[in-house]
Amino acid sequence: MKTYYRLCVLIGLVVAVHSGPISRQAGNNDDLVSYYCLQTYLKKFYNFTEPSGAASKGRTSHMSVKIAEMQKFFGLEVTGSVDQETLQVMMKPRCGVPDVAQYSTFGEGLKWQKNQLTYRIVNYTPDMSQAEVDEVIEKALQVWARVTPLRFTRINSGEADIMVSFGTGSHGDFYPFDGPDGTLAHAFAPSPGIGGDAHFDDDEFFTFRSTNGYVLFLVAAHEFGHSLGLSHSNDPGALMYPTYSYQDPNTFVLPKDDVDGIQSLYGPNTDVIPDKSNPTPPATPNACDPSLVLDAVSTLRGENIFFKKSFFWRISGSSQSEQHLIKSFWPEAPDNIDAAYENTAQDKVFLIKDQKVWALFGYDLVKGYPKSLSSMGLPTTVKKISAALYDQKTGKTLYFTDNSYYRYTTLTMDKGYPKLVEQGFPGVSGKITAAFQYRGHTVIKLENFHLALYLIYLKSYVITLYISVYHSCLLRNRCD
Ligand SMILES: [Zn+2]
Ligand SMILES: [Zn+2]
Repeated sequence: MKTYYRLCVLIGLVVAVHSGPISRQAGNNDDLVSYYCLQTYLKKFYNFTEPSGAASKGRTSHMSVKIAEMQKFFGLEVTGSVDQETLQVMMKPRCGVPDVAQYSTFGEGLKWQKNQLTYRIVNYTPDMSQAEVDEVIEKALQVWARVTPLRFTRINSGEADIMVSFGTGSHGDFYPFDGPDGTLAHAFAPSPGIGGDAHFDDDEFFTFRSTNGYVLFLVAAHEFGHSLGLSHSNDPGALMYPTYSYQDPNTFVLPKDDVDGIQSLYGPNTDVIPDKSNPTPPATPNACDPSLVLDAVSTLRGENIFFKKSFFWRISGSSQSEQHLIKSFWPEAPDNIDAAYENTAQDKVFLIKDQKVWALFGYDLVKGYPKSLSSMGLPTTVKKISAALYDQKTGKTLYFTDNSYYRYTTLTMDKGYPKLVEQGFPGVSGKITAAFQYRGHTVIKLENFHLALYLIYLKSYVITLYISVYHSCLLRNRCD
C-alpha cells in the first residue's frame, strides 16, 4: 500500500515545475552541453528547480545559490559560478545520494513568534473514540514539544493557534479533500487566522495503532510539523517525508532530520536533560558512509535491494538508487533483518530475522507468514542466519550462519551439510553478512570488508575482488 500525503503545504510553497526546453544561455555548443550538465547535476543532487513563468528571470540567481551550496559542500571556493575546479568535481563519479537530503522550512518569516501555543479540537472522527483522539492529538504535539521550547495548551472554545478539525470534500477552505486515500490531511504554515490549522480528511479510516487504516498519531504529528513551520523533507526516514508509512506509535521517536529542522526554527528544549526518556533521534543510514555494514541483500524482480535497519535501497540496472523505509512497502515486514533472498522460481522474497521468516510477493506479505525458521527445514538449533541465497541455476537455497552454511533442495537439507564456509568457498574467511546473485554470479559480502562485495564464480571458485556497493551501485551517477 503506497499512499501519499499531498498538498500538505498550502502557502508559502514554491511549486517545482519542469518547464519545456530551456533557452540557450551559453555561447557555443560546449557551453550549452555544460549548461545542461550543470542543470542536471543541480537538479539531481541539490533540489534545483527551474522557476516557471515570470519567476524564470530568477533562474540564474537561483542556480548560483545552488552552485554555492555545492561548492560549500565540497569545500571549494564559494563563488556561485562554475569554474574549472567546480566542473572537475561535478564530472567525478559520485555517490547517487543527494547531498541535500534533509528537512526544509517555510522560512523564518513563517514560524511562530512565541513559544506558548494553544490548540483546540473542533470536532471528532467517528473512526475512534473521543478519548483516543484527544490522547493522539496531545501526543502528536508532544513529539515537537519534547525537542523544542514550544509548549501547547488545549482550549475548548474560541480561536486557538492550531485549530484541529475533521472534514470531507469541501470543508470551508479552498482546498477540498479528495475522498478515500490520496490526500490524508493538510495543515497551514504559522500565521494568524487559518495559519497553523490542521485539517484531516474524514473519508480516510483513522486508527489508534492498527496497520489497517491510517494511524492518526503519525498523520497528526506530520501535519503539526507543517503547523509549526516545517515543509517536506527529502530524507526518506523523516516524519516530514511526504508519504505515509506505518510505524508503531508506541515506539515512535522523532527522527534526527526532523529534530534538526524544528530546532533550526525554535532551538532545543532547554528544560530536559537527555536520558532514557529522550532516546537519541534515529538518523537515516547514508549509503556514502564508509563504515556502513549492510544487514542483507536480495534481488527483487530484477532489481537489487540492500537492507539496513528500517531502510532499504533499491537499485535497478544502471539507474540511480532509491532509499525507502521497509515499512513504506511492506508495513508488516520487520526492521533490522538478518538475511534476505529471492526465490525466483516461486517469485517470492524471504526476509529472515531471528528465528522467523516472512515471505513477500511483490508488495504483499504472503498469508500465513511469519513462520518459524524450522518451517524452511532448518534445524531448531539454528538461532540466527547471517545471510541467505537462492541459486537460480541449481534451484538450491543456501543459509549462512557464522562460519558454516546449509544447502537445501526445496525443504530438504543436502547430504554433507552444514559445511564450513571455507569448504564451499575456498579462501573465504570471516562472517558472511549478505549474499545474492548478480548476473549469474554469487556475490557474498564479508563483515570485515564493510562495503566490498566479493564475486565468486561458482564453477571455478575463483574469488575476485569485485567492486564495492559504494562504487558499483550507488556511485555510478555522473553528469554525462
Ligand atoms: Zn505534509
Ligand atoms: Zn482544509
